[in-house]
Amino acid sequence: MFLIKEGDGGSLVQMVQLALKRAGFSPALIDGIFGGRTKSAVIEFQKSRDLLPDGIVGKNTFNLLRDFLTGYTVYTVESGDSLYSIANRLGSTVQLIENANISILANNLQVGQKIFVPFNFSLVPTNIAYSALLTELICEGLVVRYPFISLQIVGRSVLNRPIIMLKMGKGQRKIFFNASHHANEWITTPMVLKFGEEYAKSVVNATYLGALNAEYTFDNTTLYIIPMVNPDGVDLVTGAMERDSETYYDTLVLANNYPFIPFPSGWKANIRGVDLNLNYPAMWEKAKEQKYQAGYTKAGPRDFVGFAPLDQPESLAVYNVSVKEDFDLTVSLHTQGEEIYWRFGNYEPRGAKEIGERMALVSGYKLTDPDEFQSFAGYKDWFIMTYLKPAYTVEAGKGVNPLPIQKFDDFYPAVREILRVALTVLE
Ligand SMILES: [Zn+2]
Repeated sequence: MFLIKEGDGGSLVQMVQLALKRAGFSPALIDGIFGGRTKSAVIEFQKSRDLLPDGIVGKNTFNLLRDFLTGYTVYTVESGDSLYSIANRLGSTVQLIENANISILANNLQVGQKIFVPFNFSLVPTNIAYSALLTELICEGLVVRYPFISLQIVGRSVLNRPIIMLKMGKGQRKIFFNASHHANEWITTPMVLKFGEEYAKSVVNATYLGALNAEYTFDNTTLYIIPMVNPDGVDLVTGAMERDSETYYDTLVLANNYPFIPFPSGWKANIRGVDLNLNYPAMWEKAKEQKYQAGYTKAGPRDFVGFAPLDQPESLAVYNVSVKEDFDLTVSLHTQGEEIYWRFGNYEPRGAKEIGERMALVSGYKLTDPDEFQSFAGYKDWFIMTYLKPAYTVEAGKGVNPLPIQKFDDFYPAVREILRVALTVLE
């Protein structure tokens, strides 16, 4: 049962604190620590919504708080309402309501009609730790806010979390971004979601995103985003997974195979201890040989290749959707190092180096020639080998993984430039 209460910690508490703050109640810091101030804010929120004011976030309280994470509410039109009055009362704007309800004419509101009312704030938070649940709520909210975005569940994680793909655009060219293959690189999820939100906002306002003409790109390109390939692993790293759960215990047992790797902050793998970016059919046997030699012979926090290529549901989902959609260019976001990888062994897709050089130029990142330390079985490797089309691994930011979300604003601008090049370079 869903329950968040005083004494709890981690990313779910941060999510509650953010929702409280957006709703106008002050939990003091959004620090992921459920203390007295957070409890008081929950109580005030509960009173304002006629809930039992016990200071515990159970199912009912969360159902009302979740509006502030999806960023919208459903409103039933009453007699005398106008879009303007609804927007004013609920903290929205006429434009946001019009964008979210494309079939509704402002002067033709019907009493009893249900409409989406998005709140007037940017949806994608860049100041809190992420979780599978938060990602699901944001994706739901983006689709409501920008109805031209569609949402597809392309697979399920080991723990049955949806692996979500967002899609927007009408063009022939297909560009694919993915993030959080590696659990402790989860900061890539807000990066790719923020980019998606900014792009969608530019499309709806018919403006430019930097040098990108959003309407033109929207008509000529289709963008696919899988913001979180490894939801279970992210939940482990950010503390969204309950510490007294059986899964957490099982994971701890796997981690004990590699006592020199910090737990859970050093966890890159999926929840079964398989490194998803070593699980693709691109000279997988070589990856296995290399990693076994380095001592990664059992499931654990990182570098275990699995028992066969694509034996994990997360990598299989990304593989299947890639085969089905036949993308023209892909970018996989990882951290860290401020580097861009562009080829796989002797496979060098035509034009890929030049595109990589443009990415390097706009971001200040280094386009890396992977000769010295050849790696195998990654998503990019498989895509390049199979399709001979451009694919990149971008190592975003600099520091120790997991990169602190507090530095998001330092890291994001370079990533945005890279994604913008990726999205438009084939136009
Ligand atoms: Zn990585």
